[in-house]
Amino acid sequence: MAIERTLSIIKPDGVKNNRIGKIIDRFETNGLKVIAAKLKNLSKAEAEGFYAVHSARPFFGELVEFMTSGPVMLMILEGENAIAKNRELMGATDPKKAAPGTIRADFSASIGENTVHGSDAADTAAFETSWFFAGIERAN
Ligand code: ADP
Ligand code: MG
Repeated sequence: MAIERTLSIIKPDGVKNNRIGKIIDRFETNGLKVIAAKLKNLSKAEAEGFYAVHSARPFFGELVEFMTSGPVMLMILEGENAIAKNRELMGATDPKKAAPGTIRADFSASIGENTVHGSDAADTAAFETSWFFAGIERAN
């Protein structure tokens, strides 16, 4: 396994419900290190560009509206197999289908408001980390 970097977002519901600490604790206790982080209010253009791959989906407008409804916590996580590890800790997109003990099973209200984002592959991780962080904002 390789050391990877992946983008994590604590979505507006997670920030609003004071879950930042609990979610980061899950990352840290499972071998993922936060190497960059910032709390940010996304503009419409930032959210639309980030989710451009979903622009044709029926829920796109709703997704952009939700992601711009309040601050999000943006992080780059680093660790062994970080991309898959983060997805495993998050659980399935729909919290009703997420495995017990995952972030979404424990904290999420619905498939739209599902508390966390995580890159799903090496190419999306590279795009997504660069979308939100310049090189000088990373710990190394
Ligand atoms: P994931 O975040 O698990 O990678 P997707 O990439 O399929 O899931 O979708 C991106 C985001 O779009 C989801 O996390 C969720 O917030 C939203 N979303 C996905 N499917 C739906 C849906 N059927 N209805 C409303 N929102 C959705
Ligand atoms: Mg996805």
